[in-house]
Amino acid sequence: MSATPIGIYVHIPFCHRKCGYCDFNTYAMAGAIVDAYLSALHLEIERADCEGDPVVSVFFGGGTPTFLSGEQLADLLRHLRQRFHILPDAEITSEANPGSLTLDQLQRMREAGFNRFSLGVQSFDPDELRRMERIHSPDDVIAGVQMARRAGFTNLNLDLIFALPNQTLERWESNLRRAIALQPEHLSLYALMLEPNTRFYHLYQKGQLSLPDEEVQVEMYRLAQSLTRQAGYEQYEISNFAQAGFRCRHNLLYWHNEPYLGFGAGAVSYYRGIRWTNIKHPREYVRRLREGESVVLESERLMAWASVAETLMVRLRLTDGVDLQELDARFGLPVCEGFLPLFLRLQERGWVQVERTHIRPTNEGLLWHSELSLKILELSERCPLPAL
Ligand code: SF4
Repeated sequence: MSATPIGIYVHIPFCHRKCGYCDFNTYAMAGAIVDAYLSALHLEIERADCEGDPVVSVFFGGGTPTFLSGEQLADLLRHLRQRFHILPDAEITSEANPGSLTLDQLQRMREAGFNRFSLGVQSFDPDELRRMERIHSPDDVIAGVQMARRAGFTNLNLDLIFALPNQTLERWESNLRRAIALQPEHLSLYALMLEPNTRFYHLYQKGQLSLPDEEVQVEMYRLAQSLTRQAGYEQYEISNFAQAGFRCRHNLLYWHNEPYLGFGAGAVSYYRGIRWTNIKHPREYVRRLREGESVVLESERLMAWASVAETLMVRLRLTDGVDLQELDARFGLPVCEGFLPLFLRLQERGWVQVERTHIRPTNEGLLWHSELSLKILELSERCPLPAL
């Protein structure tokens, strides 16, 4: 039996309506499909081929997990506990939409063992929220935070987005200050990404969406870094800021490229060197499970060099960077030797700092992480390490 710590992700693909910028695997559906989906999800959990690995984190994401009742969420968690070895101190998170919460629901979740709560705030500005087609108001956020605290949640994350259409630096500062004033233990602050197949993308293509230019976006990011630092948060990842002891354990699994199992429509798993993705549409997911078919849409065994490159890319999202000895030991390969010339070039550009034991991204490296990742990928594809 392996003792590798793993995470579990559960996807709830329902939302009250689709937001204009969202390209997640989520649908404005309700009614019978929700019950059918839950039955299918329980079936997938029941059929999981699990081998007793200790589970250090469980994350309910979406979509909108709190589209479900407290009891439905508690049932799913109970079932996971029956099937997996969830450690007593595991981090158990649910994402939530501030527009669809009740105290009763949160209390039920807390009793069931949820101990971290992540609220999709995005903005405190009513115009920005309207333009994003969010269903909640700024008051809903405040009520949501108060309810979560009353229900006993002591580990709270707020998600915010910057570089929104027509957003000024001042407006972003106001959003940030309002978020910090609510004293969450964790903040996730993302720049808006224009994804194809979203309403925002099509509006932008037609010239009907005005976004802050790149210099302003960089200023917004820098402002987020300085205001959070002043308020006592530590930046530990490109977009993530935590009070001491409150880094997100689940996301750290992804950033360390460690194993996790995903359940639900479109969920991704990475386990024993294989990555697989479930079928995306909830109706097809339900049909396949009902008929005893596999829900796996695609699966690949990662080549060693691809795994190394991915590990380097995700690790360099973290301010802690890459521990070189640990990396060589994990892969049993001379990774450091193979990548050192590239890291030295990236150091000349000012994107990383090469130390005796670690490679760490600089502040510029965090900002240009996508470009930095491309360089790692190019090198690993062009000349994989000799032993790989
Ligand atoms: S609530 Fe979140 S997941 Fe649902 S549509 Fe909006 S952004 Fe997407």
